[in-house]
Amino acid sequence: MIRFERARAAARVRVMSSVYSHSGLSSFENCPRQFYFRYVEKVEVTSESIEAFLGKLVHEVLERLYRFVGEGKVPRLPRVLERYEAWWHERLDPARVRVVRSEVPIDFYRETGARCLSNHYRSRYPFDAEETLGLEEMVHFSLDEDGRYRMRGVIDRIARARDGTLEIHDFKTGRRVPSQERLDQDRQLALYQIGLSRRYGEAAPVRLVWHYLAAGVVRTSSRTPEALQALREQTIRLIDRVEAEHEFEPRPSALCAWCEFREICPAARSASPRASAPAPPVLAP
Ligand code: SF4
Repeated sequence: MIRFERARAAARVRVMSSVYSHSGLSSFENCPRQFYFRYVEKVEVTSESIEAFLGKLVHEVLERLYRFVGEGKVPRLPRVLERYEAWWHERLDPARVRVVRSEVPIDFYRETGARCLSNHYRSRYPFDAEETLGLEEMVHFSLDEDGRYRMRGVIDRIARARDGTLEIHDFKTGRRVPSQERLDQDRQLALYQIGLSRRYGEAAPVRLVWHYLAAGVVRTSSRTPEALQALREQTIRLIDRVEAEHEFEPRPSALCAWCEFREICPAARSASPRASAPAPPVLAP
C-alpha cells in the first residue's frame, strides 16, 4: 500500500523536474491520483491490459513492416500476419496480461490485431505514397524559449508525401473513430508538430494523419501557426496546474476497470461496476 500522505509532500518537487508527455498530461486530466501513482510515485506495474498488449504488438509489426519497405523489400501480407501471430503467441503471458472484459474471448483481441494489420496493408500497398523519414521516433522539445516546459513523445511514423508535405502518422487500434472536430483540436500530434518544427523548419507544411486501423479509417488535420501558439500556451497552463497540485485527488470513473493501480487505489471501489464500463477509448498507449 502506498503511504500517500507522506509521499505527496515530496511530490511537487519531483514533478517540477519532470519532462512531460501528452499521455502523462492526459493521465492527470483524467485522474490526478493515477498520474501520481504513475509519474510521481512511479509505482511498479506488473501487468498490462490486453488492449495495451495488442496495441504495442500491432505497432511493433508495423514498425518492422515499414523498415522492410524502407529497404525496398515489401513483404507479402501473409508474412506480416505470420510475424504478428508468432509474436502474439510468444509474448502473451496470461499471468501478466489483464482481460477486463472477461466475457470477450482472447481470440477476439488477436483477430482484431490481425484485422488492423490487414486493413492497413491493403490500403497502403505498395507503400509508395510517401517516403518514411522516421519510425517510433523519440522527440524532445520545449514549449517555451527558456526550456522550462519540457516535453517528449514518440512518433509512430514521420513521412514526406509526394507533394512535399511533412506527415506525422499515428496508429490507433481502438474501436472508436473521433469526429473531425475533435481531431482538429487533438493535442498529441499537434504537440509533435511543435516538437519537429526545429528539425524541419517552422514554415514546413505539415499534415497530421491518424490511422484508425480496426475501422480502416484515415483522418487528417492541420494546424495554423496561431493554433500551435494557442496549444503551447494551453499546455504550459496545464503543466503549471500539475506542478501546483498537492492533493492528486482520485477521480473514479468507468475507466478504473482498466487502471493498473486499481488494486492499491481505495477510490476504485466507488467506481462504476465493470459490467457497465465502456471499452477504453484507446487501446494503444
Ligand atoms: S483506480 Fe480509478 S480513481 Fe484510482 S487511480 Fe486509477 S483511475 Fe484513478
